[in-house]
Amino acid sequence: MAHIRLSTNNLRSNLEILAKKAGGYERIAAVLKDNAYGHGLFIFAKQTANQGVLHAVTRDAKEALEIEAFFADIIVLSEHKENFFAHPNIIFAVNEFDALKSVPRGAKIALKIDSGMHRNGLNPKELDAAFDTIKQNGVILHSVFTHYRAADETGSCFFWQRENWHAIKSRVIELAKKHSINKPFFHSCNSAALLRCGEFDEDFARVGIAMYGYCDMSEAFGHFGLKPVLELFAKRISTRVLKNGECVGYGGKFTAKEEMISSLYDVGYSDGLMRYGGCGELSTSNGSLILGRMSMDSMSVNSEEKEISIFNDAAVWAKEFNTISYDILVKLNAKIPRFFV
Ligand SMILES: *Cc1c(COP(=O)(O)O)cnc(C)c1O
Repeated sequence: MAHIRLSTNNLRSNLEILAKKAGGYERIAAVLKDNAYGHGLFIFAKQTANQGVLHAVTRDAKEALEIEAFFADIIVLSEHKENFFAHPNIIFAVNEFDALKSVPRGAKIALKIDSGMHRNGLNPKELDAAFDTIKQNGVILHSVFTHYRAADETGSCFFWQRENWHAIKSRVIELAKKHSINKPFFHSCNSAALLRCGEFDEDFARVGIAMYGYCDMSEAFGHFGLKPVLELFAKRISTRVLKNGECVGYGGKFTAKEEMISSLYDVGYSDGLMRYGGCGELSTSNGSLILGRMSMDSMSVNSEEKEISIFNDAAVWAKEFNTISYDILVKLNAKIPRFFV
């Protein structure tokens, strides 16, 4: 079967770069949503905690409960308000005013404010009413946060949104004082925002893609020396020699122009790979050409090796499929065995 190897050293090196930028490991919240971007939730959580990360972020409560032993706190980004509960180290993001009203007494929340992305979050005008509700209902305000719509793009958008966010933070500090609530933590940066922000001055950054070794940002922001953590391997099932003129696979999309080796490897689009159509020049990590259309459980490669690395840089596949590395990584089927080396 195909398997995934995760590099302990590359993760360590990425976390070092990010901790340096953020001002310490305690200022990194590892974003582990969606099976840790396809890397494997449990083992990745354990490894990041071993390497000194204290905070985590997940998509839902189920993910958070699976890894709660490893972190001081875990922020759950997208849980439905019916499923909120009070828990010492699980913090529910509240993404609209209506959801705030359903938070049970004693539950911890991270209040999301819409500073300009207009995807979700409370309107800044709702802050006063939100603090009244928090106080009245005995809800614990862990943090206040926002998300940038264009942290990875050049242009003025990021700066304009940061100005909005600064004003929101000032108002939150005033309101916390007024209601005698502890000043909440503030966090606004994802990977791109942290890497480009100059001086980082918040309580922590929510770091996803950069921790996994990618930075899909414009070259204008420079190079940060991040290294991909994940490598996908497949095993050979069979080997044949193609004669000049023979075509491989469904639709015969690849035609041999001379005698050549073709082996079938045990990974395909059922494993979460994008379905390669066989007409391009996509190669494996060591440059062996992928021959023809990918099948459900297998693909042909010009190689004889018993085991090959299909990719060690998801950006190559992202480019081929006109998408982002997140999209390639997160789709990798959870059933593929994963381990750290
Ligand atoms: C996914 C996500 C992040 C992490 O983004 P990266 O670009 O992977 O660093 C941070 N914050 C929120 C709200 C997210 O949904």
